[in-house]
This record gives sequence, structure tokens and C-alpha cells, in this order.
Amino acid sequence: MLIISSFFISFILKKNDMTQSIEIYDAFDTYSEITVISDKDAEDILIKCRDYLKEKDMRWSVTKPESEISALNYNAGKCPVSLSPDTIDILEKSLEYSSLTNGAFDITIRPICDIWDNAEKTGIIPTENEIKTVLPDIGYKYLSVNPQKLSAELKKSSAGVLLGAIAKGYATDEIRDILKKSDIDSALINLGGNIYAMGTQKNGTPWNIAIQDPKNSNGILGTLHVSDKAIVTSGSYIRYFENNGNIYHHIIDPKSGYPAKSGLLSVTIISSDATLADAISTSCFVMGFYESLALLDKTNVSGIFVTDDKKVYYSDNLENSFSHNNPEYQYILF
Ligand code: AMP
Ligand code: MG
Repeated sequence: MLIISSFFISFILKKNDMTQSIEIYDAFDTYSEITVISDKDAEDILIKCRDYLKEKDMRWSVTKPESEISALNYNAGKCPVSLSPDTIDILEKSLEYSSLTNGAFDITIRPICDIWDNAEKTGIIPTENEIKTVLPDIGYKYLSVNPQKLSAELKKSSAGVLLGAIAKGYATDEIRDILKKSDIDSALINLGGNIYAMGTQKNGTPWNIAIQDPKNSNGILGTLHVSDKAIVTSGSYIRYFENNGNIYHHIIDPKSGYPAKSGLLSVTIISSDATLADAISTSCFVMGFYESLALLDKTNVSGIFVTDDKKVYYSDNLENSFSHNNPEYQYILF
């Protein structure tokens, strides 16, 4: 095992026979791990993946003032900004998902997220009036992207974007492509819980991906047995704060400005496209189970929905690949 660290550990490389992995601590404000199964030395490939993630983080972070997304937000209402082709691409995809979900997915949610982040820090919950005042600043119609000129513009000075609901999914797809180009056929990519299971395990069987019980951090709902699939979960248990006995989670309904109350505890989306899975899982969490059914059909993805009355609805095409075993829940195929 080789450990590389500076002032704080930024990544760790491990090698054990054909299983080689990298743990990454300094990208996207989260922990990521990429494991490849290969008989050739994959160290350079894994370092390349880590460099890729760092680069995307530098480009897309809302907290780093030098990022492209910060430039776009800073120049809101002023002028278009020049952006890298991949930033243009993720912005265009975001707009596409906004229109597909009737605005349930909306990266211009940032001004409202700022209010809730502030509430978490100060312990002061915003009034309904404060929320209402900021709601007109939310709207994907304010974002205009020009792929020919490689530029984008926010047309309203109080508007702002953030890519938290899609960036990790997008990066997952790109890591998969980097690995494929490097002749890696089997790998497990985990970017802060956005999973891509590529090929098979060392013994040739599909990967086993546990789905967390949203009510119990030590428990699972079941296990997916998958190959060449992204598995992305959005849930109220993932990021939240408590105030006066109330839970405020991080997935916001752009129509109300409040944490989405759609009767769901979590949504897991399974698709070969991780970008799509990330955007759709956030959208479904906002929309609720019944409202999401048409969207699943339209985008050809499978889903596992956990409702707050402890039901687990899962797509019928998962019947043979989702083994479930939690007696606390009632499992229903749809
Ligand atoms: P996810 O965990 O992929 O569901 O994304 C949640 C993150 O996306 C939040 O932490 C916010 O930064 C951002 N977000 C919250 N609500 C929305 C929304 N309705 N559309 C797009 N991004 C959102
Ligand atoms: Mg998402």
C-alpha cells in the first residue's frame, strides 16, 4: 500500500493483487473512491482520474472564487462569461433536465440554497416573506448558454447557479470514459455516493451495491446486483439540519423555496447514464413518487422510491437484480 499525503491526506493509493484503488479526499467536498480490476498497473490511470476530479472541482465549485461557476454568478446581470466546453455542456444538460422536469430540477436554485445554508449556520429560520422575496430570482429562463461562442450568461443580477445536483453524476460518466479509454473493463466508481458499477467483480459476477436505509444509517434496504449501471440516490437523510425539532434537508422545491415535501425519504435511480441518474434522482425527490412515473418512462431509467410511510416502490425490471431484506419496509413492484 502506498500512501501519498501532504499537509493533510489528499489521496491514498492501494494495490492488492488485481484490485487497485484510489481514495480521494480533496475534490467536490466529499470522499470518493475508484477501484479498478486489472492485471496491469493502474496507478497512472487512477492518478489521472484524481487530477480530472480536482480540475472539475476547480471549475465548478461555487465556493472557490476563481471557478468558472463563480465567474458566471459574479457577472450575473452584467455580461456573458467565457467557459470551458465541459462547463457549457453541463449547463446545457442542466437546462434540458429543467425543461424535462418542468422546473423541479433547476440549477438556478442557488439564492434559496444560500438562505437555507445561512439558516443552518445561524439557527434562524427564514420567514415565509423572506423566501417569497427570493423566489422570483429562481428560474432557469435566466440562464442563457451559447455553445458556439463557448459562453453563458445569467440575465438577472440576483440570480445564481450551483451544480450540486448534477456535477458528481457528470464527473462519474467522464471517469467511466477515462477508464474505458485506458482499457479498463471492470471498475467501481464512487463519487460521494454517486456510484457507477462497470463490468464485473474479480470473480466475474455483477457488482453488489447496498442501498442505505434512510431511517437507519447502519441499515440497508437491499442490494442491487448490477453491471454497467450508475446508481444515484437523493435523500432527505443525506444532508440536513435540525431546528426546534424540525428537519430541514437540502433538496429544495423550486416552486415553494422550501425543502421538498413530497412524501419521500429517498429515491435511487439506476441508469447507464450517471449524469441523467443524478439529475433525475434530485427531480424525483422534489416531484414525489406518482408524479415521477411519467418521467421514469420518458427517460428510460429504473427507480427505487422510499416513502415516509415505509413503503419501497421499485421498478419491475429490477425484480431479479434487487434483493431486499429489511422487515421494517413493505416492498412493492411498479
Ligand atoms: P442531490 O444530492 O444530487 O439530490 O443534489 C442536492 C443538491 O443540489 C443540494 O445540496 C443543492 O446544492 C442542490 N439542489 C437542491 N435542490 C435542487 C433542485 N431542485 N434542483 C437542482 N439543484 C438542487
Ligand atoms: Mg442529483
